[in-house]
Amino acid sequence: MSKILVKNPVVEINGDEMARVMWGKIKKQLILPFLDIKLLEYDLGIENRDKTNDKVTIEAGKAIKKNKVGVKCATITPDDKRVKEFNLKKKYPSPNGTIRNILNGTIFREPIIIDKIPKFIKHWSESVVIARHASGDIYKSQEIKIKTKGKLYLKFESEDKKTLIEKEVCNFDSDGVGLSYFNNNKSIEDFAHSCFNFGLGRKIPVYLSTKNTILQSYDESFKEIFENVYNDHYKIKYENLGIFYQHRLIDDMIACLIKWTGGFIWACKNYDGDVMSDLVAQGFGSLGLMTSVLQSPDGQIIETEAAHGTVTSHFRQHQNGLETSTNPIASIFAWTRALLHRGKIDNNKDLENFSHKIESICKNLLNKGIMTKDLALMVGPDQKWLTTQELINSISNELNN
Ligand code: NAP
Ligand code: MG
Repeated sequence: MSKILVKNPVVEINGDEMARVMWGKIKKQLILPFLDIKLLEYDLGIENRDKTNDKVTIEAGKAIKKNKVGVKCATITPDDKRVKEFNLKKKYPSPNGTIRNILNGTIFREPIIIDKIPKFIKHWSESVVIARHASGDIYKSQEIKIKTKGKLYLKFESEDKKTLIEKEVCNFDSDGVGLSYFNNNKSIEDFAHSCFNFGLGRKIPVYLSTKNTILQSYDESFKEIFENVYNDHYKIKYENLGIFYQHRLIDDMIACLIKWTGGFIWACKNYDGDVMSDLVAQGFGSLGLMTSVLQSPDGQIIETEAAHGTVTSHFRQHQNGLETSTNPIASIFAWTRALLHRGKIDNNKDLENFSHKIESICKNLLNKGIMTKDLALMVGPDQKWLTTQELINSISNELNN
């Protein structure tokens, strides 16, 4: 059998623990035997990040920017415990944050829908893609505790000192708390472009939620910017595809999420996205079926990964020589989504077909009851399950046929 030729390279980012173990198997059994591809490998395993003082993460981000397609394995974001465990020189920042800053991208989380796997919300038959504006708001806020009577102000002073805006927020007559936060129009605009381009790629509508009835300047700005970007750049393309953009109040949007069957992108402000992405993941079932795509505003550059982490609890069993039943599906879909993008921008139909083929094999096997333990537990007590290795063998057999 001849391999499919992939002309341009894909940046491959390796990671940690159980995710890394699965990564090796996927690459060896499902990718390399079928593709004649140049993978630009960056090892973001925690030991190598430490060895390179985290330079490898920056290099990986730049390589994705240059080559337009990256696929990433889950990595450890060190906390104090991890610093000790690996004897690290430093508590390095999250690689995902570093790469996101380099690509100036938006993260889209999307569940893989499998008919056989029961969902908490039974009528969610199509995916809900959550896009989180990972910039500003409470994550870059300043807060204070107030211990005495007095006035809290919001104040802006222009660089040339000619403009001064000052508003009284509260006249405290006893203890309290105060908070101030901000956002940048450019970042909101980039976010809007990312979302509209993602919608074009998937051919599904985009909703933005805000509370602009209350925040008539702050949230109203999000609404206005999205509307302007849509009208100026996307409206005609959307109408031609029979899709649309709409703004909705966050409360209304949550009601719609529960009522509707899915099939849309939900552009969320930073905090809403943080909360709703976990809610939607749980609603659809399992972290093992949740994918994550980081995409640049113009839609040209993507980095794909599984939404779950390095699955440390399973790695401990693996270290003790036990076979685990860790779900590799989201990691496999990280590969297929990256290859699909490579195929699309290179106009490589064989590669696109190959990506679709792997995805449909995975879905068919799961629907036939060939699955890992996390999913079997959701199906019911009689559902049998396989180890990770057995499941990957089954997928590989189907691919070879
Ligand atoms: P996690 O690795 O996602 O695992 C949490 C739990 O979810 C697991 O213990 C397991 O439950 C279940 N789970 C997750 N993925 C699964 C899969 N593929 N198959 C089966 N079960 C799965 O999150 P964590 O334990 O909080 O974090 C572990 C490490 O991952 C941390 O060092 C963190 O920094 C890192 N992390 C990285 C990323 C990323 O790179 N994007 C994201 C999140 C976390 P059971 O134990 O009950 O089986
Ligand atoms: Mg969260």
